[in-house]
Amino acid sequence: MSSNVDVVIVGAGVTGLTAATRLTEAGYDVVVLEARDRIGGRLWTDTVDGVRLELGGQWISPDQSALIETLDELGLQTFSRYREGASVYVGRDGVRRTFDGSAFPVSEYTEAEVDRLTVVLDELAAQMDPLNPWDMPGAAELDRMSFAAWLREQTDDQEARDNIALYIGAAMLTKPAHAFSALSAVLMAASAGSFSHLVDADFILDRRVKGGLQQVPLLRAEKLGSKVITCAPVTAISYDSAGATVRTVSGHEWHAKRVILAVPPTLVSRIAFSPNLPPVQMQARQHQSFGIVIKLHITYPTPFWREAGLSGTAFSPYQVVHEAYDNTNHDDNRGTLVGFVSDENADRLLELTPDERRACVLASLTTYYGEQAREPLAYYESRWMAEEWTAGAYATSFAIGGLTRYGARLREPIGPISFGSSDVAGLGFQHVDGAIRVGRMLADELIAERLG
Ligand code: FAD
Repeated sequence: MSSNVDVVIVGAGVTGLTAATRLTEAGYDVVVLEARDRIGGRLWTDTVDGVRLELGGQWISPDQSALIETLDELGLQTFSRYREGASVYVGRDGVRRTFDGSAFPVSEYTEAEVDRLTVVLDELAAQMDPLNPWDMPGAAELDRMSFAAWLREQTDDQEARDNIALYIGAAMLTKPAHAFSALSAVLMAASAGSFSHLVDADFILDRRVKGGLQQVPLLRAEKLGSKVITCAPVTAISYDSAGATVRTVSGHEWHAKRVILAVPPTLVSRIAFSPNLPPVQMQARQHQSFGIVIKLHITYPTPFWREAGLSGTAFSPYQVVHEAYDNTNHDDNRGTLVGFVSDENADRLLELTPDERRACVLASLTTYYGEQAREPLAYYESRWMAEEWTAGAYATSFAIGGLTRYGARLREPIGPISFGSSDVAGLGFQHVDGAIRVGRMLADELIAERLG
């Protein structure tokens, strides 16, 4: 079987569906081919053991204007993360302390060092255009050095280093700070407006969508109707200057003037291209990789921490669960915590049996919230590294040196094929906001060219 369209879009995540919507509105005939049996990619709202969970992305921050515009357009409502009361921090000395505001309860010296480094990182982020991070002054030097090495040059205070590394490493890129460059760290900050934004949980984890963030791609797909086809992994693309033929696993061939590959860069090599993509393009994608994080959802009969005067927010670079929050649904009397186990802690956790993992996670939560945390009603782990059509979380980032060497290549079209996902965004890099921006950009480029 074969069909003809103007544009084939591979991937029904937010990037692909945003591009498809824009192209359809401009009068082009599109098809969206999605490998999974569901819509949304890294957005997935599902009910597990009677609790509605955000298995993938969920939070919205005030700077994410592309996402906020989309929510308004789709008529979706948001609610605030619960944040009344004290937060918890477990320090290098292993002592649990509560605190108000955003500054961790550390020694005066450590606090001063964290504040100083925050200013340094804010200044660096201000010099960067996140869409072209390789152009900032000193980019090559910052890209050659791991973020861990950069932090060692900046301060002799271990706890300050551990906390700054936590904000960008465990909490964002989900890689240890020795595995990504100082330039990638600055990109993460610049893409969120500043480093100060990243360290302010009330800013970066501000709001959620009532009913779940997956409604964004679901509503987009609903409007596109039969133009979105699930269970259709794309296996091969042959192309020349006139257009492309895209083949799915069922053997169906789609002939199109243009193709948008709206998949993470790491999945591009699963498709057989004829002719092969230029060698430098394959190299570029081999220098990018997903981080690893296990998102934990733990529900209790009540949000018991609130009665103890706690907001539910907890941090520690020294705990298995390095950060946790009150993630109770706006319409639920039960209390749900969300926690994260990232990078090398995630590697270690995955070596354990499911029972051992659960015991380890609950022990960490008990350190933050007390013994009641050990007896949840429901416990679930989102393990995106085991998802065939993602294979990691939250997003991809470059190996040391890769951003300046190859970053610009990832957005280059090859013949009739363009590429993009939240992984190549500037503002909103690695986030849903970035996926929307990239989806719009890819569609607008084709519309401007009138599809050649
Ligand atoms: P994807 O969602 O990955 O979409 C790509 C699609 O392509 C997928 O549906 C995939 O199945 C499909 N595909 C791949 N290969 C093929 C093929 N060969 N043929 C056909 N289809 C294919 N962002 C936030 O803004 N806030 C958050 O709080 C947040 N938290 C997160 C928590 C987790 C656990 C995860 C995993 C992500 C989180 N993110 C968050 C990131 C956010 O979800 C992603 O950046 C965004 O959803 C990516 O959208 P995308 O369309 O670019 O890519």
